[in-house]
Amino acid sequence: MNAPSLNTHPTRLQAANGLRTVASLAVLLVTVAVLVWGFGRTGERIAVLMCVNVAAVVSLMVYCGNTGIVSFGHGAFMTVGAYLSGILTMPVGLQRSALPDLPGWLAGYELSVLMAMPFVALAGLAVALLTGSAIARLAGASATIATLGLLIIVHSVAVSAREITRGSQTFYGVPRVTDLLIVLIAALVFVLIARVYRESRWGLFARAVRDDKDAATVLGIAPSRARLIAWSLSGAMATVAGALYGHILGAFSPASFYLNLVFAQVVMMIVGGMASVGGAVVGVIAVTFMQNSVRNLEGGTTVLGFTLPEVFGLTTVALGLAILLVIWLRPQGIVGGFELGPGAGALLLRRVGRATRPADAPVPVGEMQLVAQGLSKNFAGVKAVDGVSFEVPTGRITGLIGPNGAGKSTLVNLMTRQYDADTGTARIGDIDLTYLPPHGVINRRVARSFQNLRLFSGLTAYENVLVAALAAGHTRAKAHAVTLRELAAFDLDDIADMRAENLPYGARKRLEIARALAQEPAILLLDEPAAGMNPAETDDLADRLETIGRDRNIGILLIDHDLKFVNRLSARIVVMNRGQKVAEGTPEKVRADVRVIEAYIGRGRTARVAGQN
Ligand code: ADP
Ligand code: MG
Repeated sequence: MNAPSLNTHPTRLQAANGLRTVASLAVLLVTVAVLVWGFGRTGERIAVLMCVNVAAVVSLMVYCGNTGIVSFGHGAFMTVGAYLSGILTMPVGLQRSALPDLPGWLAGYELSVLMAMPFVALAGLAVALLTGSAIARLAGASATIATLGLLIIVHSVAVSAREITRGSQTFYGVPRVTDLLIVLIAALVFVLIARVYRESRWGLFARAVRDDKDAATVLGIAPSRARLIAWSLSGAMATVAGALYGHILGAFSPASFYLNLVFAQVVMMIVGGMASVGGAVVGVIAVTFMQNSVRNLEGGTTVLGFTLPEVFGLTTVALGLAILLVIWLRPQGIVGGFELGPGAGALLLRRVGRATRPADAPVPVGEMQLVAQGLSKNFAGVKAVDGVSFEVPTGRITGLIGPNGAGKSTLVNLMTRQYDADTGTARIGDIDLTYLPPHGVINRRVARSFQNLRLFSGLTAYENVLVAALAAGHTRAKAHAVTLRELAAFDLDDIADMRAENLPYGARKRLEIARALAQEPAILLLDEPAAGMNPAETDDLADRLETIGRDRNIGILLIDHDLKFVNRLSARIVVMNRGQKVAEGTPEKVRADVRVIEAYIGRGRTARVAGQN
């Protein structure tokens, strides 16, 4: 009835991020004000360029920051934007003399800059979708090289398409918009768009893929789609930023948007910290000031009676030094490492906490069964899994034990499609999981954790779980409520706004299970959830799993080395050795089985097994 409106209440983390953005915007406004009032016309000119750079670097950050891929290709979008907007807004008479051979369909519009913007943005989006269909499939250095390729191609096209661009000659007649207010508003709007996108479903997905592609895929996120959306938004924004830049220059050539500009903008982004929108703003301001101070030195000057000679290229050298210094001293950039302390955050959550309520427990799942049949996998001659069959029914915990290298993790990887099975099937009902794309397994309500922690390290605990709930198809409000429920179920609500990489080990292990459970699976595959935990932590985890398995009626496949832990929880236990299933049954039966004892004695684990008897 008086259900709280979840949407309107951010978590303390979102509030903290919001504060950070407001702070960086305040810095921008103050800087602009100081420039304009303190330095007159020169100051205003610098402020205008700075605002356009904020728009451009924020656009760049939308892709780079969220996907973790550095792009040198955004100069291509700026080129498209500057020329297109120039052509669309150019006075007709001027256009006839400057571009006599312009194709008819492009000529004679004479739109206002504002009217041209939607077309510019759409053109940018089209270019982004076209190029993104290839680039979004790539990650890391290969993606970066592809973006560089895009820059070079678009530059060459701009140089050779003389009818449209005047080639490498100056393209003139572009209406000048040097109005500070327009570019300042553009910068603010871009920052807001970037912020909203970053926290949105697709922004979170892109950041999850950035931090751990496989873990994101298991949650149901298609990595190339998440990257394509980041690329497209980013490209469309950069195209608009390029148009604005063109309208400030008034006259330009393809070289205006080439390596020098791109390099400067990448430096601004990295110096500020590419993971956050605030970083982009601060980076632009810092580098703009550096550039302007160094530019004064470039022409030679007198310092304390010494006459310094003229040095050409000093600004470029300074940019290089800036980036080296940042990489050396503060790899996350000036803003990157900044987090609001738990003190301020806790206060906010307490206020928010009253307004929001965790979701009710999920409706218990019905009867289902995950059935593995004859699964096999070879790695270069090693039979990691060799014809293994077993079932994981809902409503109880099935243990899977075996010495190191027995093939347990490989088995899970086969069932959740990290690996292709050589033979065999893993079915839920009539559906064969082994034919699904890796991100489709969660649609069949199978979730998993990883043996080696695979959290999204740059995301907070809250975001890690939220991503999973969103990827499972929940609305934002429902996902938020589900996230609160799972964080509470694993005693993580107090540290919800800490980044996963900063959490203590035990909390990280629990977080991975909470993340999987936020998808409301019917079957949960847990690969050594208690590894590295102390006995108290292990007992605590056992209690939680027992409760959750019972209340929600889910089926859990529990892999662990701690036999006491597995014995306590499991209704049945499957034992593997050297890729094969060697025994299966109740804990009592398995414990007495010679083949099991042999499997462990063979690896020198006599003591542990003996301890159970
Ligand atoms: P467990 O989880 O039971 O300790 P694994 O499934 O990790 O065992 O490993 C089973 C066997 O498969 C081991 O011999 C291991 O070296 C091998 N193996 C696992 N993954 C790979 C891989 N990606 N490439 C090559 N060999 C692998
Ligand atoms: Mg393993």
